[in-house]
Amino acid sequence: MTVLITGANGFIAEHVVDLLLKKNYEIIGVVRSLEKAEKVHQQFGNSSKLSFEIVPELSAPNAFDPVFRKRGKEISSVIHMASPFISGATDFENQLLIPARNETVSILNSIKQYGNDTVTRVVLTSSLLAVTDLNKMGDETITFTEKDWNPDTWASCQTNPLRAYAGSKKFAEEAAWNFMREHKRNINFDLTVVVPAMALGPHKFAEDVKDELNVSNKVIDGLLCSSPRRKLDHYMNAPFIDVRDVAKAHLIALEKANARGQRLCVFERGIGSQDILDIMNQKFPSLRGQISQGPWPGRGDQNTKCSYNTSLSNKILGFEFLSLDQSVEDTVTQILCVRDQV
Ligand code: NDP
Repeated sequence: MTVLITGANGFIAEHVVDLLLKKNYEIIGVVRSLEKAEKVHQQFGNSSKLSFEIVPELSAPNAFDPVFRKRGKEISSVIHMASPFISGATDFENQLLIPARNETVSILNSIKQYGNDTVTRVVLTSSLLAVTDLNKMGDETITFTEKDWNPDTWASCQTNPLRAYAGSKKFAEEAAWNFMREHKRNINFDLTVVVPAMALGPHKFAEDVKDELNVSNKVIDGLLCSSPRRKLDHYMNAPFIDVRDVAKAHLIALEKANARGQRLCVFERGIGSQDILDIMNQKFPSLRGQISQGPWPGRGDQNTKCSYNTSLSNKILGFEFLSLDQSVEDTVTQILCVRDQV
């Protein structure tokens, strides 16, 4: 069984590759440069089960055709995980919306053309932001489920980078479901979408903990750099899941028959900056007095209002999620070790 995974060098993807290797899959990683391919290959001990294809510009027309023309017959499933996130994006349409949507349709077209006889399942990585109405996140009467969609339009999501990123995930996912409906008579593969909350947790390889962390873990790093004397610059509330559980969910999305055609939301609970600070101050005595105690020490979750009911997904996923305590403890330990602070 061979799985092709796009963006194989990413934060979540490296955990997925690790699980796939442990289950003896052959893996084809798609990355944007030879340098990235060599680095990931070396990180996984140059495993003979892992090979790479380089696609420098994923949003170029028919970008995936050469890969599927060459290797389509080997591939039994595809995880499309690569997606643009540009925190300083200014041209939302060209940097986020168009590439995310076009790359998704482009890979589905390549599979249809060159992998239709062999590929049985495609897994797409979406985001809980594609489910959430961003205007209602502060509304305690609202519960989002797998059936909900972010209501932003192509135009209305283009007001700030986060909203535009959320839009890019929504429109890419929507395009994938539309593709499946439109081509259902001519395709032999099915689609499962993994819809993760904000993913925190350690990098698969500590060497990837650089001065600047990946986007989601920047939240933790920001709090590690907070001052006990100053107010927090920014208070964050978000739905949380550990990255290792997101990886597990991708495996289930790939393998389980009853995951077919589903949106699998992967969500543990809503959290706020205070929850993370409480765990840091409690579990790491060396940080006490060095970082903020937060605006409401010991009283977590102050502003998390909307909730999520993802029981349908949980039934299919069928495993217990890691707690925020575990996630923060493992992440902070890895960061402090790499930075020689323990
Ligand atoms: P990373 O930033 O670690 O990895 C992103 C991957 O996408 C990298 O391989 C990157 O390539 C590639 N990429 C960047 N820009 C583009 C582009 N324009 N076109 C195609 N590929 C691009 O991200 P994560 O591991 O955090 O995220 C993986 C997936 O999970 C994404 O689809 C993301 O939207 C989704 N997700 C992430 C969450 C999180 O909290 N981290 C939560 C919910 C969903 P390169 O290294 O060459 O730049």
